[in-house]
Amino acid sequence: MADLGLGASFVYSALPARVVFGAGTLANVRDEAERLAIARALGLTTPAQAEHGRAVIDLLGDRAAGAFHGATMHTPVGVTATALAAFRELAADGVVAIGGGSTIGLGKAIAARTGAPQLAIPTTYAGSEMTPILGETEGDQKTTRRSLDVLPETVIYDVDLTLGLPAALSGTSGINAIAHAVEALYARDANPIISLLAEQGIAALARALPVIAGDPGDRAARSAAQYGAWLCGVCLGAVGMALHHKLCHVLGGTFGLPHAETHTVVLAHAVAYNAPAAPAAMARIAHALGGAERSAARALHDLAGAVGAPRSLAELGMPGDGIDRAADLAVANPYWNPRPLDRSAIRDLLARAFTGAPPQ
Ligand code: NAD
Repeated sequence: MADLGLGASFVYSALPARVVFGAGTLANVRDEAERLAIARALGLTTPAQAEHGRAVIDLLGDRAAGAFHGATMHTPVGVTATALAAFRELAADGVVAIGGGSTIGLGKAIAARTGAPQLAIPTTYAGSEMTPILGETEGDQKTTRRSLDVLPETVIYDVDLTLGLPAALSGTSGINAIAHAVEALYARDANPIISLLAEQGIAALARALPVIAGDPGDRAARSAAQYGAWLCGVCLGAVGMALHHKLCHVLGGTFGLPHAETHTVVLAHAVAYNAPAAPAAMARIAHALGGAERSAARALHDLAGAVGAPRSLAELGMPGDGIDRAADLAVANPYWNPRPLDRSAIRDLLARAFTGAPPQ
């Protein structure tokens, strides 16, 4: 009998979510709001995507209460308070968030405080729409909670909304998604179902992203990337993340580095660090990235190059004297990791990521 690689035992929890996937699916937004019994929706966007918000409000018609265009990075509680005031003033009873992880985060923050149902319409590949996780900031303090109360009930993926995602952000956002699946494959609570989704998600994105870098309007590649991002988001919501995500949280929180770009620079280095401790996961990652000839770390480094992504933390604005501080913070309150954390090796990893050297 063939060994399915199931391991001795595992736990798998499915998260409830309804997904509407395709092209032109935004047209379903009113029906989907009705399905959630949302009679007065508050539309959420960033200032840059106000146009997307207006399109949603038009389509919601009599089920729209109004819009809030002030979503911003890191879900600051002050912005949530302003959005919440609008939610109450407009007598809204549900949120429709259209945008990237920042906007979907604001929808989750409102749901956490009101119990309102959420319809999420992602326009990047970050994956927040598939997770029961909410990160919020107050001053320089970040808190994270995990609760089904913040998981969007319905997600509409419409490839048309991603055609305008700039090429540079498409590449980094896609590699941000791949990072979720990579860490799911060596997670402490990894399970065979999520590992299947992880491999498929990595493969779809790895094939699509270089095509998108050359032609951001390629609909087939955009569709594959969005499908991959969905699967990778499921991975993030289902199992624990490790060193890579810890490093990105430290770097983002301490030096204000941009989210998707930081993930892109760090991923190959974190994978190289973990490779000796997770050979089976590495083989699956390398396979999903196109073959066993290159190591998983090398293939990720090459993918970042193929999409023209930044390669060094220095070019993202990290100060050189921050390397030691970041190494200290990464080993303080660490996430579980397949390879034990060694401060000196992590410092070396950060030094290589700082200069943009290939992973080792
Ligand atoms: P983002 O939401 O901050 O978007 C970046 C910018 O791109 C914004 O100005 C946005 O309006 C714009 N944009 C988005 N889609 C566009 C499109 N199709 N066309 C043109 N412009 C577009 O970036 P992100 O990387 O999607 O999300 C990052 C945030 O999400 C971080 O705060 C991160 O912590 C959070 N996040 C949370 C989770 C979770 O599970 N809680 C998961 C992933 C990310």
